[in-house]
Amino acid sequence: MTPAQLQALAAITGPGNLLCDRADCWPYGYDNSRRHQAPAAVAFPRDHETVLRIVQFCNREAVPITPRGRGTGTTGATVPTRGGLVLSTERMDRILAIDPANRTITVEPGVTNQAVQDRAGGHGLFWPPDPTSAAFCTIGGNLAYNSAGPRAVKYGTPRENTLGLRAVSGAGEDFRCGVHTTKGVVGYDLTRLLIGSEGTLAIITEATLKLLPRPATKGTMRAVYRDIGSAARAIAGIMGQPQVPCALEFIDAQAIAMIRHHSRADLPRQAGALLLIEADGSPATVEEAIAAIHAAARNDGLLDFRSATNREEIKALWDTRKALSPALRTVAPKKINEDVVVPVSRLPDLIMGLEALARRFAITIVNFGHAGNGNIHVNLLVDPDDGDQMARAHACLDQVFGLVLSLNGTLSGEHGVGLEKRDFIAREIGAEALGLMRRIKDQFDPRHILNPGKMLPPASP
Ligand SMILES: Cc1cc2nc3c(=O)[nH]c(=O)nc-3n(C[C@H](O)[C@H](O)[C@H](O)COP(=O)(O)OP(=O)(O)OC[C@H]3O[C@@H](n4cnc5c(N)ncnc54)[C@H](O)[C@@H]3O)c2cc1C
Repeated sequence: MTPAQLQALAAITGPGNLLCDRADCWPYGYDNSRRHQAPAAVAFPRDHETVLRIVQFCNREAVPITPRGRGTGTTGATVPTRGGLVLSTERMDRILAIDPANRTITVEPGVTNQAVQDRAGGHGLFWPPDPTSAAFCTIGGNLAYNSAGPRAVKYGTPRENTLGLRAVSGAGEDFRCGVHTTKGVVGYDLTRLLIGSEGTLAIITEATLKLLPRPATKGTMRAVYRDIGSAARAIAGIMGQPQVPCALEFIDAQAIAMIRHHSRADLPRQAGALLLIEADGSPATVEEAIAAIHAAARNDGLLDFRSATNREEIKALWDTRKALSPALRTVAPKKINEDVVVPVSRLPDLIMGLEALARRFAITIVNFGHAGNGNIHVNLLVDPDDGDQMARAHACLDQVFGLVLSLNGTLSGEHGVGLEKRDFIAREIGAEALGLMRRIKDQFDPRHILNPGKMLPPASP
């Protein structure tokens, strides 16, 4: 960017709201993919009008803009690969209104997920999307990535829990879309188009989110199986009966071995797979749900089934799952982390297929995730200094994607495309649909200034 452009942006953002020094800008070049590219400047708009003026200026000057929440995303979508301006929403962090009667909350994009939960909780309400990073990640990031967590199995993702948005398109147009009501079918659904668009179409400046009443109580269950086949049959059984759990998490044998090594979790010796299951509702319905889920989870591979309804016992059961992330961090210098999804009934084929690929390419693969949605985090453990192993890992990854697509699955359930998966999506999305997506991008952002180079692979010349 030229000194004149920086000066103009400083005038638009106001004193103290623009960083230009290289050292100050450096941290805004990362996200959790660990890729890096320093931007020329970082802007901290405090309101919608400033975002509008920044985008209109950058549009005129053809300056690339990378919108950014807190940079916790894992696929490189926040890394400003073409330099230019990072637009951080961290100072747009006001909760604008909460309306318990209509069960809505309206927020600026830089509000954290946790702040929404805290405010809604004061009225006995909650917003369903619950990424593990809730304490740090923003609503803007949650919407742009359609991020979810364990509760999605019962309550859905941001797409099902957002009513309306205010935004600025890449062309510098100020618009609102969606509704303030729980029904509405007027016009094309731009709200759901923007959700999951990774900041490539418009910058979200305000969101009206749908809140739900907080369930009175919860019951947590842990089911341990001899092998993956029995666990997979139990998942299909649990999802096939009417008591929908509010979490159904899966951990495979490799992950169990790591947990055993890194924690004091009390697990049967022959454990080959584990499910953590949660049900919520009134005390009576939770009791009923536990009985129904226990019945559905029972098969000849079930080694151990425990349930808990008090806080300490619930924590002890979840500790098994929580021991996994620190264990993964210490066991290998790097993990290639995917979050593929297949129809729930195809989970056994996926897990068995992954085991076969791990053997064929001699790569350790650890699998766990949100089994109720068929969403599995596939972690290839690698040493980046071992060239031969890295080559095998990339060949293996290619086959992992092939396997997922052959099972009618999709390449990402919640982490998004960004840079990491951009060059694979043409394997999932047909040429015609990809062409339509490129034309949508052209309509919103004709000069391609918003998050350029992300999500959609470059069109062939
Ligand atoms: C420890 C940890 C645990 C995690 N757990 C989960 C999990 O359980 N589930 C899950 O889904 N993800 C998880 N994530 C990934 C990540 O936290 C989520 O993707 C989160 O939604 C990103 O929010 P952010 O504010 O950090 O967004 P960023 O990473 O800053 O941005 C993400 C995307 O949103 C765009 N964007 C940001 N703000 C706006 C805006 N206002 N308008 C338009 N586009 C915008 C960016 O350009 C980028 O494309 C985890 C990450 C970590 C580090």
